Amino acid sequence: MIMSINWYSAGATAFVLFLAFALLGAMFLIVKLSTDDSDKFKDLKEMVETIFGTPAHLRSGNANAQEDASKDSAAQSAAALEAFSEPCPACGETVTEQHRDCPSCGLRLL
Ligand SMILES: [Zn+2]
Repeated sequence: MIMSINWYSAGATAFVLFLAFALLGAMFLIVKLSTDDSDKFKDLKEMVETIFGTPAHLRSGNANAQEDASKDSAAQSAAALEAFSEPCPACGETVTEQHRDCPSCGLRLL
């Protein structure tokens, strides 16, 4: 009876260890495949990115998405450089596009 309990315990420990190593192996494999730039694992990569919440247009290796992103950031920079004059959200001091930080309270604006 004691022997059977020990065997059960050992088996459970071995099973847990096996699961842990299997999980590690699976994660390693997924990371390896998701960093592979070939189209072979495109579907898997998209699935993994869906699981881990990385939007497809943000990942590296997609030239079109990167172009779009740089266009977007360029447009945002241009918009940020347009003249504006509005009260600081923290202290109410009037700030303009000339101020990277609020001259009154130092709050970062851009
Ligand atoms: Zn301020």
